Parts: sequence; structure tokens; C-alpha cells
Amino acid sequence: MSTDSHIDVSEIPQEPLLLTEIPGPRSRELHARRQAVVPPGVHSVMPLYIERAHGSILVDVDGNRIVDVCGGIGVTTIGHTDEAVVAAAREQMGRVTHTLFTMTPYESYVEVAELLAKYFPGEGQAKTLLMNSGAEAVENGVKIARKFTGRPGVAVLEHAYHGRTMLTSSMNFKGAPYAAGYGPRAGDIYKAPNSYPLRDGLSGLEAAARTIAYLEKTAGAEDLACLVVEPVQGEGGFIVPADGYLPALAEWCRANGIVFISDEVQAGLARTGTMFAIEQFGVQPDIVLTAKGIAGGMPLAGITGRAEIMDSSQPGGLGGTFGGNPVSCAAAVAVFNQIENDQLLARAKHIEDVFKGALTDLAAKHEAIADVRGLGAMLAIEIVKPGTLDHDAALVQRVIDRAAQQGVLLLSAGAYGNAIRFLPSLQFTDELIALVVRVLDEAFAAEAA
Ligand SMILES: *Cc1c(COP(=O)(O)O)cnc(C)c1O
Repeated sequence: MSTDSHIDVSEIPQEPLLLTEIPGPRSRELHARRQAVVPPGVHSVMPLYIERAHGSILVDVDGNRIVDVCGGIGVTTIGHTDEAVVAAAREQMGRVTHTLFTMTPYESYVEVAELLAKYFPGEGQAKTLLMNSGAEAVENGVKIARKFTGRPGVAVLEHAYHGRTMLTSSMNFKGAPYAAGYGPRAGDIYKAPNSYPLRDGLSGLEAAARTIAYLEKTAGAEDLACLVVEPVQGEGGFIVPADGYLPALAEWCRANGIVFISDEVQAGLARTGTMFAIEQFGVQPDIVLTAKGIAGGMPLAGITGRAEIMDSSQPGGLGGTFGGNPVSCAAAVAVFNQIENDQLLARAKHIEDVFKGALTDLAAKHEAIADVRGLGAMLAIEIVKPGTLDHDAALVQRVIDRAAQQGVLLLSAGAYGNAIRFLPSLQFTDELIALVVRVLDEAFAAEAA
């Protein structure tokens, strides 16, 4: 078997290189072609066409090397084209690419379910349904909770993001662009106030009391099937709730027979320094949802829950043609192995120490940075108009644009475009962290001048 056609990405130097303006001529050319055949609803925030990638570096079609601090929104957690993941996917690709698990099953699906059961942050034996995307994970989590409880209501939090399907777009805090104009929106969804320490000044218990009072008044606990929460809110701007907030919500859910679902599609699987972010809050969820980072860039999503809850669905009630695809499952097993073998949980903690420390120093220098927050390699800064807590989305965008011109790819977050998020791979070096912080420092200085 010839491997001559394999591109050796391991030779991509882990540092930026700028050969053209960003985006360069070849990217612009492709972008023009795309406009004719791809609708604008599928928006690309940075129309930089990528040709190959490895570790923390993207190489675009003009040969520019870009430092990737987004990871396709937290997908390439263990780095782009990780050798073990690529090898596992290639090997599986050459044997069998599809059978349909709900028809004739295969081992790797079972292996992924075993790994998720091993790391399940809840109580007792866990079982897993595999799907393809984060939104499907949320859809199925809700579906399973409704079946188990026999109740309709779905509680979510302000600033939440859960996807772009018909159900999940109705669960998001932001109506536009996700749900606006696509109605009718799904019913029986209750959006309660969250905990937002920078802005609400509440303790975790006070914020939880407010959330619970809202849900009891609007939905009624006895009508709620589940509460879906992101332990660290992703699109919402990496908001970390105040201490005690999530345990109080979990306790209320338990007392009222409401399924507590931890949406770890963005925070999950090693990124925050624990396998699941919820572990750091002392909460045992009933169901945990994974997607983005679980299979090193291959589409895969997991709905993992207490056996009693997962077993309540009738045969045939759960699944989908591509759910738990063999190639994606092989990649996911390799991701779990890499996390274990390379001590990536410790790497996430190291990145938190170094990166958050440097961002905190930066915040002391630049008045526009009102907050530095997050866990592990899921960090953000919130940007305001100096001396106020007013959002400054325009400044966020200008800083991101300046960084792009220096070969550093950053992404905004927050319901008001008011934060810059950092989702480096767990292979991100201290040198790259220093480079990103220097680029930010220069950008904020130039904007303040
Ligand atoms: C991205 C995301 C989703 C949706 O995942 P898709 O794979 O884009 O469907 C759901 N929940 C959270 C917390 C996310 O960050």
C-alpha cells in the first residue's frame, strides 16, 4: 500500500509566517467563487481558506502560517492533525466506513461508550448514545429527559447557546441571528437569569435563588423535564458562574425530579483541566453532552447519562444514520488515549496558569479589559468602554482584526460581541502564549492611542 500521497504536516513550523496580506489573493479568489454558490447565511468570520494544519498552526492557500487560538471553536483540543488521531481514522477508513450502528454494530462505538462511562461525572453506571453534532446532542438530551420524566418543560439560562436546529435555536439566549425569522420557535422553553459575577454582583446562592424563583414562577418545577446548563457558558462569553451556583441548581433539580443536563459541547473533554468542566463545580449531572472536541475534528457527539434515564427510551426511539460513525469513533478512542498518555489535563492547567496570568497582567495595563475569566484552555477577556461596564463590540472586532494582520486568529464571544475568547490546543506552547499576549498588548495600545 502506497503512502506517497500523504502530506507530511508534522513539518509545519509552530510559528506564524506572513507572506501576503490577510486574507491573501488566493483566499480572496476562493471567496469570490464561494459567494456564487454558498448562501450568506453560512457566514465565515475570517474568510481565510485553509489548506493544511498541524498542532497550533493553520496554513492558508497563500502559504501564510496562522496561530490558531480558536481550534475551530474548541474542536481541535489536542491539536490539528494529531498523528495518533489521523492514523486511527486512516486505519478505520481502510476497513469499513459505515454499517449503521442501529443495523449492524461495531466495536469502536462500544469503546467510546465505555470511555465515556469511565469518565462520567455523575453517579453510578452510565450509558451513551452517539450522534454527529452538538445540537443533536442537546436535542437528544432533551428528548431523553422528556421521555424519562414524562414532562414537557425545558429550562435554560440567559447567555446560553445550544445549537442551530429548530429546538436548540429556540433554547439560545440570542434570538438573532439564530432563531429570528425562522419561527415558530419551539415551545415550553424557559430562559432563566444566570450567574454573571462581573455584572450581577450576586453570590452563587443569591443567583441560584433568583434562577429557581424565576423557573418556579414561570414554568413550575413539576412541569420541567430538564435544566440544560453549560458549566462555563461558551458563546455567552466564557462566563464562569459564582461559587455555589451550580450545586444549588443541581440540588433543586434533584429535589424536584428535574434532569440536570451539563452541556459540555464546548467546555468538555479535557479542555478545562478536568475531563468534564462540571467536576470543578462539585456537581454530579444526570446527563452530560459532548461533541466539539471529542473526536479530534471528526463529527461525533455523545449523550451520556445515568443508566436509569438512558434506558427509558424504547428500542428504535434513538439514533440516526450517521450517529457514531466508525471513523469518528476510531478518532475519538485515539483522542481519549492521547489525553491519558500525554497528561493533557495537566497541560490544560498549565495553560490556565501561564495564559490567564499574562492576561491578568494585560488587564492591569489596559482599562478596556474588564474581566479575565475561564478555566484551563478556555479563557476570555471581556471588553468595555473604559470606566464603565458598557459593551464595546467595535473595539473587540478591531483588536481581532489587528491580531489577524499579525497572523493570530482570535474569535469574539458574548451575547453582545463583548468578549474575546481563547481556545488554544492543549499543545499550545508558552512561546505561542507570549506571542498572542504581545499581539494583544500592541493592539490595545494602538487602539487607545
Ligand atoms: C457549539 C455548541 C453547541 C452546538 O454544537 P454543533 O456541533 O455546532 O451543533 C451546543 N452547545 C454548546 C455549549 C456549544 O458550544
